[in-house]
Amino acid sequence: MKTSVKAPAKINLTLDVTGKRTDGYHDVKMIMTTVDLADRIHLSLQDRQDIEVRVNNGQLPTDENNLAFQSAALLKSKFHIQGGVVIDIDKYIPVSAGLAGGSTDAAAVLRGLNDLWQLGLTLEQLAEIGLQIGSDVPFCVYGGTALAEGRGEKLTFLPSPPTCWVVLAKPPAGVATKDIYKRLRLNDIEHPDTAGMIRAIENSDYREVCRLLQNVMETATFELNADVKKIKDRMIESGADGTVMSGSGPTVFSLCRNDKKALRLYNALKGFVDQVYLVRMLG
Ligand code: ATP
Repeated sequence: MKTSVKAPAKINLTLDVTGKRTDGYHDVKMIMTTVDLADRIHLSLQDRQDIEVRVNNGQLPTDENNLAFQSAALLKSKFHIQGGVVIDIDKYIPVSAGLAGGSTDAAAVLRGLNDLWQLGLTLEQLAEIGLQIGSDVPFCVYGGTALAEGRGEKLTFLPSPPTCWVVLAKPPAGVATKDIYKRLRLNDIEHPDTAGMIRAIENSDYREVCRLLQNVMETATFELNADVKKIKDRMIESGADGTVMSGSGPTVFSLCRNDKKALRLYNALKGFVDQVYLVRMLG
């Protein structure tokens, strides 16, 4: 038995860090939405007991360090499944980019195996299992648009944001999320207007969505990787409607309503950085 599952990336319209917790995680408050830049996961059940991961990207682990492997292993042991699975990942989402590439693969495997192994779990149950793998996995189980709080697992679903183009650009060098957290001065943060962004989404007010894009990690990431700031500046100079870094970076994205403007922006960035994508917001 086989199935194929789409695993879309997410972007952060806002990202706020509200405190450090006793369990070592930070409390966050962020609005996330899915975009049409996706990995494809192909699952085929096999009689052999093992879980095998194959990826079209040599950078990624194929053992238990792959989050897709972890999803399969968790479901297999939790529900005493006989037999194994081959997981083929067609990777299109850039890795270590702030786009939840690993989490979305993990979530897609949870959804796909729930069907193939006929577990009958609800999305809520899958999200709870996914939280054991990573803080962004619960959101990725559902997709759409949501306010995420706590570690990222407390989700309040929102309507889709106004439709638009999204231009994403990722510089070659990544930035370690833990180094960014170390540099965050929690007492000295200019917090995003999360409530304002929720209102803008609810009112389908595109201009206000663009105006309120904000990520408290930007400053720390800019200090660690100057290219990220250069990309942001280039996007603003090229006429983007709104621009901000996603997650802990280093991907920066811009919103554009107008087709021609989006294409102009895409081309302006293409000569500047290798990894540039022009996609639709899925929300
Ligand atoms: P986030 O936005 O959730 O912080 P990210 O987009 O910054 O995530 P990922 O692409 O998820 O980062 O990769 C982070 C790490 O996870 C990398 O070191 C990568 O090797 C590892 N990883 C494990 N499994 C996967 C997978 N299926 N896809 C991508 N990365 C994976």
